[in-house]
Amino acid sequence: MIEMRDIWKTYPNGVMAINGMNLSVDKGEFVYVVGPSGAGKSTFIKLIYREEKPTKGKVYVDKKDLSSMKEKHVPYLRRSIGVVFQDFKLLPSLSVFENVSFALEVIEEDTAKIRQRVMRTLETVQLKNKARFKPHELSGGEQQRVAIARAIVNNPSVLIADEPTGNLDPETSWEIMNILEEVNAHGTTIVMATHNREIVNTMRKRVIAIDGGRIARDEIRGDYGYES
Ligand code: ADP
Ligand code: ADP
Repeated sequence: MIEMRDIWKTYPNGVMAINGMNLSVDKGEFVYVVGPSGAGKSTFIKLIYREEKPTKGKVYVDKKDLSSMKEKHVPYLRRSIGVVFQDFKLLPSLSVFENVSFALEVIEEDTAKIRQRVMRTLETVQLKNKARFKPHELSGGEQQRVAIARAIVNNPSVLIADEPTGNLDPETSWEIMNILEEVNAHGTTIVMATHNREIVNTMRKRVIAIDGGRIARDEIRGDYGYES
């Protein structure tokens, strides 16, 4: 599903963010990525949805080689990989419905189909009744649920989340985790970078710890493992 072979990433300013990484993630896995600030988690995540390209090595998602993928094919990739961020990144002038349909409309399906698909997805994140609301009328947890709806509306094989609970209180964070669990239960592979010790230690999923741009630990039923 996701495969990295001897990945190195040096930013143009000389910072070596990833220093030789090999990894494979199978279909349907739920993987936590942990590690101290500056360890390379965001860079790792960005390599999977091709926000960044490796300096050396190969990244495959769904057997597609991202490193040699042409720029014009990247938008298609973005439909098979959903991404969720800490700060939601919703479009503020669009309604909940439009934020989600925006991701679909690129595919040029007919309007009735789009509507049905968006509403079904909003039902999954329990926001059907707020389809007309604007992001600023929603709580943080609700905004993140819109972002998840946007990320899954195309039924991606992989969902990437970069600290999705970072701006949320503990209770709301668990609501988000329940939704991600449900998404995972439907077969979507999830890779989630997080600093949330409680979530990682409670869920007992695969944990990949990154330190200094390398995999320091990779455990099937891992724990958070850091003091802070
Ligand atoms: P984490 O997400 O674990 O905090 P990052 O992947 O964001 O780690 O950062 C890893 C290293 O790469 C850090 O030293 C960071 O300062 C650096 N870095 C991240 N993004 C960039 C960038 N766009 N340009 C230059 N250096 C960067
Ligand atoms: P996030 O982890 O939320 O994606 P960023 O990628 O913006 O945040 O930043 C993560 C780390 O990378 C921070 O420590 C930041 O200072 C550093 N960083 C981001 N962009 C650059 C850059 N262009 N040059 C150097 N360091 C950067």
